[in-house]
Amino acid sequence: MKNQLYQQTVLKHNRDPRNYGVIEDCSHHAEGFNPLCGDEVKVYMQVEDDLVKAIQFTGKGCAVSQASASIMTTALIGKSLDEAMAQFDEFMKMASGEKQDPQGEIAAFAGISQFPSRVKCAVLSWQTFNAALKAVDNTISTE
Ligand code: ZN
Repeated sequence: MKNQLYQQTVLKHNRDPRNYGVIEDCSHHAEGFNPLCGDEVKVYMQVEDDLVKAIQFTGKGCAVSQASASIMTTALIGKSLDEAMAQFDEFMKMASGEKQDPQGEIAAFAGISQFPSRVKCAVLSWQTFNAALKAVDNTISTE
């Protein structure tokens, strides 16, 4: 685990989250809970022409859950839906320990699979994004 990168990146995004706030009249939204840790994340997206034009989140909980949500928004904004889903798959594979060479700040979470109790914190925002996009169920729980 790249401990220093992980700690610095998580601390930075937890202290100063990017794309924090509600998007009124958004095209997609969902709400996620991780009861194990008490984390909550709401994801709001404006999708136009198969592009993630805007993505924001609100939430509360541990530093890992909130930093992961902040990093996710920076990774997905401006992406096509195909690219965004590829990022989602990559993050989920990384979290399960299958893949270990992510790009950008997501790399801070490489090795998180060694800490099962933190995996649910890290994937919460991504699963909430996935739920928002699919709009199958607008409330998810990692339990
Ligand atoms: Zn947590």
